[in-house]
Formats: sequence, structure tokens, C-alpha cells
Amino acid sequence: MEIKVTHTTKPFAKPIEQEAAGSLGFGNYFSDHMFLMDYEEGIGWHNARIEPYHPLALDPAAAVLHYGQEIFEGMKAYRAKDNRILFFRAKMNAARWNQSAVRMCMPTMDPELYCQALNAIVDIDRDWTPHAPGTSLVLRPAMIALDPCLSVHPSKKYLFFILCSPSGAYYKNGMAPVSIYVEEHYIRAAVGGTGYAKCGGNYAGSMLAAEKAAEMGYDQVLWLDGIEHKYVEEVGSMNMMFVIDGTIITAPLEGTILPGVTRDSIITLAKDAGWKVEERKLGIDEVYQAAHDGRLDEAFGTGTAAVVSPVGRLSYRGEELIINHGEIGPKAQYLYDRLLNIQLGNYEDPYGWVTVCQ
Ligand SMILES: *Cc1c(COP(=O)(O)O)cnc(C)c1O
Repeated sequence: MEIKVTHTTKPFAKPIEQEAAGSLGFGNYFSDHMFLMDYEEGIGWHNARIEPYHPLALDPAAAVLHYGQEIFEGMKAYRAKDNRILFFRAKMNAARWNQSAVRMCMPTMDPELYCQALNAIVDIDRDWTPHAPGTSLVLRPAMIALDPCLSVHPSKKYLFFILCSPSGAYYKNGMAPVSIYVEEHYIRAAVGGTGYAKCGGNYAGSMLAAEKAAEMGYDQVLWLDGIEHKYVEEVGSMNMMFVIDGTIITAPLEGTILPGVTRDSIITLAKDAGWKVEERKLGIDEVYQAAHDGRLDEAFGTGTAAVVSPVGRLSYRGEELIINHGEIGPKAQYLYDRLLNIQLGNYEDPYGWVTVCQ
């Protein structure tokens, strides 16, 4: 695929001082360029281009603005010690992109094309990949429906674009445990719904519960299944793992949770470390029983942003559990170190997960 490149004539100031001060944060700054590509029924994907970062002009009737036909992805490009820029499991990300697209009646994309687009934009803006430890260039592919018509139907025209955002370390002072509130009233997804698709609507629907949890002093919401409000599903933008009697237990991929690339990687690393991993339904009552019996060793979330996020406090029906004395557990620590160092190119990658931006 040919990509037409228009270089910026007004480069942005890079957030060098923020990087040095550790205050980049997440998704606050954007690189000089963006990747764009159009889709039209009967033509397919065409007009691949890289342009200076700019606002989009949309018809106010565009379907995305009314009916939320939109998907996105979240990835990171890391700067290795030798200054190569590394992608992590881009192919798997492309496959998930297509799963989301199919669920939302949007056009899929050849995974090779998706990876080529990522490579092209990161290559042009590679100087925007920050250097400080823990930082990364956050990549945000997204697709929106453009048909300017108020009738509800899958659009015939779409825009695909990729933004690059130099972002800070998720943990400013090393990995630190978070607190989570187990939500019993609101749900995020149900079987048959869009829970496994990375679509914006899932997030819009989750904010009220997140606000409620924040008001009560918790960092994140742990969602329970949408039918019985009993089985633990996932947290915010992370999959969730509990360690009971030394076994790592995580929710199965049955259509209600996002199939995390980090989840899959952590399962692989845990099994290769010789640990037992179970993908099965886990009741919140089973978690509490294990805690009361002294068998709940650890709990942690997994996702691209944090990689691994240990849970120190968990609250359900007014009873708060302190997990592993509110400290990082040994399995969370091992898996975090192992995965991050593979992503950064510091450790050998026996899985073929890491690719280099060319
Ligand atoms: C993106 C996301 C995750 C994590 O997926 P990764 O591929 O590991 O980053 C988990 N849950 C939800 C709801 C998500 O949107």
C-alpha cells in the first residue's frame, strides 16, 4: 500500500520538560503527524496518508456522533536501550481490531495493512517516543462511521486514523497497589452484547460507576457478570486475575470481557513459570471465602497501560479486603518484571512477540 506523506511545516514543541519532570501523564500530548485512511463501500480502504496532526471536519449528521459506531485500540511503542522502537504483539492487536470491527458492522482490515500503518506513523514520529524509564509512545488507532444520515444503519463510509501520544510511566514511583470497588448495581456487558469489542460506547456506559467508586475513595471498578451479578469479570481497562492457593484464576473469554493482549501474555508467562492458570468463572463469594480462609494470595489487573496492576484493597457490600497486606505480591512482581523487560527488549523474547519499527 502506498502512503502519501505530507510533512508538517510547524512542528509542535515536544514535552521534554514534562518528560524530565515525570509529568507527561497519559494521552495529554500528541506527535506532529497522524495516519489517516478512508473506506467506502465498493472501493474498500484507500487514500492512505500521513498528515500533520489536525482537527477533523465532520458532518454534524455523521453516524458516529449519533449512534456511536466507533472502535479503537490501545498499544504502546517502547524505546529500547539501543534506541530501536519496539512494538508488542501488533499482529494480535490487528486480529482483535477486526473482531471489534465485525461486532460493530464496520469494515475489517488486512492485518498486514494495519501493521504497516502503525509502522509508518511511528517511523515518521519516532523522535516522539520518549526516553525516560517507564514512558512510551501510546498508539491510538480508531475508526469512525461517517455517513451523514440520521437513519440507523451501518455506514458506507468510514475514517481510520492513528494518533501517537508520548505518555508517562503508569507508576511514578514504581508499581503500586490500587483499590477497587466491586460494582453490584451497574453492569458493563452481558453475553451477546459488545463487551468483547473495544468500542467507545462500552466506556461511555462505564463512567457513572467509575464516578461512584471514586466518590467512595476507590481507584477502579470491578465489574461482575451482567446476569447473576456474581462472577468477577474485569476492571476499567484491565483484565483481572486472582491468585488463590497459588493458582492464578481469571475470567474466561465468553464474550463479556475484552480479550486483553496483556492477559494472554501474562497467562503464557505464568504457565511457563510453572504456575497453574485457570480461565473459569470465579464468584465474588469464592474470592471472599478464600480471603477469609487465608488462601487469597494476590489480586492484580493486566492491561497495556499498567502492564500489571496489583490490587491492595477490594470492597464488596461494605466489606473491605486488604489483599497481601496491601502490598505487591510475588507473582504480580515477577510477571510485571518479566513482561515489561520483554517489551523493552531487555530480555530475550522466545515468543516472537516483539517487532521493531523499521
Ligand atoms: C483494552 C482493554 C483491556 C486490556 O487489553 P490489553 O490488550 O491488555 O491492553 C481490558 N479491558 C478493557 C475493557 C479494555 O478496553
